[in-house]
Amino acid sequence: MKKAFAVVAHPDDIEIMMAGTLLLLKKSGYEIHYMTLSDGDCGSKIYTSLECGRTRTLEAIHAAEKLGASFHPSITHDMEIFYTSEMIRKVMGVIRQINPDIILTHALEEYMFDHSICAQIVISATFAKGAPNYTSIPCVDSVQKDCRIYHSVPYGLMDMYGRKITPVFIVNIESVMEDKSKVLECHISQREWLKASQGHDDFVESMQQMCNKIAKYSVETNYAEGWIRHSYLGFCPEDFDPIRDIQDSIVEVKYE
Ligand SMILES: [Zn+2]
Repeated sequence: MKKAFAVVAHPDDIEIMMAGTLLLLKKSGYEIHYMTLSDGDCGSKIYTSLECGRTRTLEAIHAAEKLGASFHPSITHDMEIFYTSEMIRKVMGVIRQINPDIILTHALEEYMFDHSICAQIVISATFAKGAPNYTSIPCVDSVQKDCRIYHSVPYGLMDMYGRKITPVFIVNIESVMEDKSKVLECHISQREWLKASQGHDDFVESMQQMCNKIAKYSVETNYAEGWIRHSYLGFCPEDFDPIRDIQDSIVEVKYE
């Protein structure tokens, strides 16, 4: 069975940036997997770190269940995602166990380092998964399989300097928008936090508005997710592009 692995920094990042694409991949027959490197322990002004991490982990497990995805536990906390050998080896351990065809993660140009460093870790872990001498944590045998990394367009559709980032292609998620919204609603603790920290009146509405903005690259949909392909070099043949392979049914592509 083909497999897709969404691996991001925080609980709710998958739901905001990539759950529509993940749901469509599942509908097309993929086994889907869900992991956030951090447990999101700093996303609250009322809970302690421990309470918040536990609450958000339960919300993430609920969201993964709703998506129909296998849940993989977090390995660290907010603001502690660093490009270290230990983190690369831990993420590689999960990648080797899943052995996915598709990896979905953040863009390198994201507005915060938890996101962009997560992307760096994922790239290196994917690159090294076939190297027997680079041991994973836990120790899992190296795997040889073509795998394509796709980066979601950065949150806010811009880099950390505020410059616009354009997706290379967009996925029409209109048919799963309702389900995507319901999955995001699992992160109930974040409704107040995002209002206080980032000024979102309603996080589900903000997500829908962003998907609507991404959809402006096409005339055929009202809601889309934007993607940038990672280079094939070191990962797969040039023409290995599994999301594009299912575009007849689900993907509207608008190349730059
Ligand atoms: Zn995040």
